[in-house]
Amino acid sequence: MEYRFVVVANRLPVDRADDGGWTRSPGGLVSALEPIARNSGGAWVGWTGAVGDETAPFDHDGVYLRPVPLSPEDVDRYYEGASNSTIWPLFHDAVEQPVHKRDWRRSYDAVNRRFAEATAEVAAEGATVWIHDYQLMLVPALLRAARPDLRIGFFLHIPFPPVELFMQLPGRGDLLRGLLGADLVGFQRPLAAENFLQLAARLTGLHPDGETVAYEGRTVTARAFPISIDVAGSERMTSDPAVLRERERLQEDLGGDRRILLGVDRLDYTKGIEQRIEAYGELLAEGALAADEVVLIQLATPSRMRVAQYQQLRERVEREVGRINGEFGDVGRVPVHYLFQSRSPEELQALYLSADVMVVTPLRDGMNLVAKEYVAARQDEGGALVLSEFTGAAAELPDAFLVNPYDVDDLKRGITAALRATPSDLRDRMRRMRTHLREHDVDRWARSFLDALGGIKLDPPCPQ
Ligand code: UDP
Repeated sequence: MEYRFVVVANRLPVDRADDGGWTRSPGGLVSALEPIARNSGGAWVGWTGAVGDETAPFDHDGVYLRPVPLSPEDVDRYYEGASNSTIWPLFHDAVEQPVHKRDWRRSYDAVNRRFAEATAEVAAEGATVWIHDYQLMLVPALLRAARPDLRIGFFLHIPFPPVELFMQLPGRGDLLRGLLGADLVGFQRPLAAENFLQLAARLTGLHPDGETVAYEGRTVTARAFPISIDVAGSERMTSDPAVLRERERLQEDLGGDRRILLGVDRLDYTKGIEQRIEAYGELLAEGALAADEVVLIQLATPSRMRVAQYQQLRERVEREVGRINGEFGDVGRVPVHYLFQSRSPEELQALYLSADVMVVTPLRDGMNLVAKEYVAARQDEGGALVLSEFTGAAAELPDAFLVNPYDVDDLKRGITAALRATPSDLRDRMRRMRTHLREHDVDRWARSFLDALGGIKLDPPCPQ
């Protein structure tokens, strides 16, 4: 079987359903790319998410899915090790110490080879291949060596670090050459593309010219394509009567007139959850906020819980939440509602609609989709967004209350400013952010990347 358009990502776009079948995974990436794959005779190469799963290739919703199995050792070394304990922290400013192990690197190399081989098998002559994210940075070059006929794009969803930081990586040259195997390397922000081109100059002596660099007889382009969300899908969810009922229930349960601050994050050390809670605790301690007037809901979704740094983070966050609730709470009224849970997209919409202030304060984040989802949810033009300047989203949403999340005083200032802003100021800010978002949804993101890559011809976008 051969396909003209192949998406390659660590995960396939499906999850196991309760009945043993498959359902489409939630999320903007899947909702943007699946229709393009379906309409252009597409395939998707990726892991099913189940350790040791040997599921054979299958069709789902008109897309050919080619699983790449991962053994328990692969998951330990390639996924939790090299990807999530070396590359992830290093690419996020090393806010936690990256761990380097040679057997993780060997596994990363071996798994990337298997992804490249699986892709080479399913791609038709001259096909367009779009590879995603930090788990698969060696795939572009490996694939090009096997299949020079292909048009290859790569998109990095996380930040790309400054040269000095990247240079710490054992295997740095291999990773850089891996990415240079692509025709187009996409990043969330222009700064990331610049870091990449500077690195190419430093490590290989290449001479970038604007956003391109000549490499082994080809031209490699590095450019920013900020990812977005399915805005129309979000607006459908927030008009759903069940979501609106859930919002009312939430507001009643929280005691009517308390202003609601909301944090929604994977429990990850890049998200600045500890600093956010510290700032909130100080505002309560100083009397700038009173627990009978405000409440913080912090949804912390379990993530990578087998990695020690994540377990330690959980302990620290839960201790601090306990301290604040113990000190400033009362029977039937706590200042922090902490949920160590995962919520469905519909449940998230109800939270977004309830929140007076959405507090998104990562220490570093490639984009941060939660910030965009909050803005998309607020068709009522209500609510305020406090946003870390170290997110990709900040470059697009200057009407948020921008903060430096390392500076607890600045966090406090941002939260207070959002709570005190006049309704008309908030409405103007939200309106401008919504206008930007509606013009820059995930479908436009996918199309602009694929247009720049050339190759497959896309159907015109559906009118909304
Ligand atoms: N999300 C979810 N359920 C949860 C928490 C988060 O579905 O309980 C979704 C959220 O809607 C968003 C994504 O997970 O689409 C998180 O993306 P983001 O870019 O904010 O951060 P990441 O987790 O990718 O670092």
